[in-house]
Amino acid sequence: MSSATTYESTSTGHMCDMDRCVERTSLSIRNFGRRFYGCQQWAPDSDQACKFFKWLDKNTCPRGRATAPLVHERFARYKADAVAARNERDEAYAREAEAWELLRKAKRKGEKSNLKLRIAEDKVYKYRVALFLSCTVFGVYFVFSNVFGGHCHTQLRLP
Ligand SMILES: [Zn+2]
Repeated sequence: MSSATTYESTSTGHMCDMDRCVERTSLSIRNFGRRFYGCQQWAPDSDQACKFFKWLDKNTCPRGRATAPLVHERFARYKADAVAARNERDEAYAREAEAWELLRKAKRKGEKSNLKLRIAEDKVYKYRVALFLSCTVFGVYFVFSNVFGGHCHTQLRLP
């Protein structure tokens, strides 16, 4: 948005060495819609900027001056809406990041639980193998003691 009301067209030439102009349209309330020809380096809020400036159109008509505040009001509303939308978007990004962090934590917990489950399953397997082996040893001992038990007794008998 250009604000041409700050400067009067008193400059006769450029204050810079660029000597290049561009055509702009003022959106200020007093000169709404009025075209002007100004230095390319012209800036409304800078004291250092070249102030070469010339109106191309005559004064804004009364209808234009009456419409300008309405347009400004609408611009302000759109700007506020844009700021609100940007804030909502930023908040949504922040929530999304929080959700991702929670998901990562949940996955890490899940992985730890899976590891514990695997360790527990390994222990169960080892205990089963140990149980099987002890039963087998006991069975073998039982069979051998029955088959060869009698000989042992006779050998150990005293005369
Ligand atoms: Zn200039």
